[in-house]
Amino acid sequence: MDDTLILVVEDERTISNFICRALSSAGYKPLPAAGGKEALTLYFSHRPDLVLLDLGLPDMDGLEVLTQLREEPGEETPVIILTARDRESEKVKALDMGADDYIVKPFGVPEVLARIRTTLRHASRVSQAALGKKRARYQVGGLVVDSDSHQAFVEGREVHLTQNEFKIMELLCIHGGKVLTYDFLLKQVWGPYTSGDNQILRVNMANIRRKLGENPSRPKYILTELGVGYRLLEDG
Ligand code: CA
Repeated sequence: MDDTLILVVEDERTISNFICRALSSAGYKPLPAAGGKEALTLYFSHRPDLVLLDLGLPDMDGLEVLTQLREEPGEETPVIILTARDRESEKVKALDMGADDYIVKPFGVPEVLARIRTTLRHASRVSQAALGKKRARYQVGGLVVDSDSHQAFVEGREVHLTQNEFKIMELLCIHGGKVLTYDFLLKQVWGPYTSGDNQILRVNMANIRRKLGENPSRPKYILTELGVGYRLLEDG
């Protein structure tokens, strides 16, 4: 497919082998690391395009590895966290520290590949935005969000959003497919000194969903990640 190099930081050999095989057959180049120190060495010598990072490593805390990767100025290499089901708070912490997404163990090949595709797509979108090629119009299925005209449409029908509701939708679109934490959204929309109370965000989100005509039990556009945040569903 291409030369996309993916650093796989995972100490459990069966899981690491399983991921590396899946990546190879999907056309990626996997680069395995069994611990945090090895991961950092390989990272700085090989400059991978994406990092899959297990948080439970024998020699270092995965969050510490993430911190060191993110210490470099302008470092934006996407990182997807691999985490155990019972470590919710760690997951949120990792996302707030700059991880791009997470996958909960145990996971299957299709999920890993889908997350990687979404994250790589998002990373190229962000770097294009940094180059000034900001997209002004986002479309996901029947949903259209136009940043220039400040309008949103569902199936061709205009949806009237408040300023803050529009900002939330814009953020979800810019980061389409990526989970955005409550904290990130609160700070982006209500400013850095917001109380961190999720209630105001939940109210806004409920209004957005009602206006979009979302069925809460079967959302088409916005997915709730319990205890973490929200994600805009993308096709593929
Ligand atoms: Ca582990």
